[in-house]
Amino acid sequence: MADREGDFPLVEPGLWIERIGAKAFPAGLPALFLDRDGTINIDTGYPDDPDAMVLRDGIAPAIEAANRRGIPVILITNQSGIARGYFGWDAFARVNQRVLELLAEKNAAVDMVLACAYHEAGSGPLAMADHPMRKPNPGMLLEAGRRLGLDLKRSLIVGDKPADMEA
Ligand SMILES: [Mg+2]
Repeated sequence: MADREGDFPLVEPGLWIERIGAKAFPAGLPALFLDRDGTINIDTGYPDDPDAMVLRDGIAPAIEAANRRGIPVILITNQSGIARGYFGWDAFARVNQRVLELLAEKNAAVDMVLACAYHEAGSGPLAMADHPMRKPNPGMLLEAGRRLGLDLKRSLIVGDKPADMEA
């Protein structure tokens, strides 16, 4: 997998940061942060098959509403399945692309994607306990906030696990 990392927007071995689209946002906006698995799509458990992705009811209209109001929508996802060796960044890329396509079919757009692969149960460079980028730690939110000049205090996070809310 390591030889393919150059194909992907990895800022380090376990951290994917991808700006989607070219929409410009003025500084100081709140953002809508969304977990992916179990929040945007039905959680199939370490999803690695793009064809298995199905959106959860009501999520596309919520994203579309944020899009219409000019609120940045940011997907932040823990992907320990990569550290655990269940799949690689290439499978993550295919699944994530499919989720974004399903949203686009419903006129809903995500503006930035951040994914953290670090986990203590991993091996190699991804084996890391309590990485600052892994939810419940707030690293991905802080990094997105820095990149887009967001007002994090007024931002919202929606997820399906306590770790999402803690972040
Ligand atoms: Mg989730």
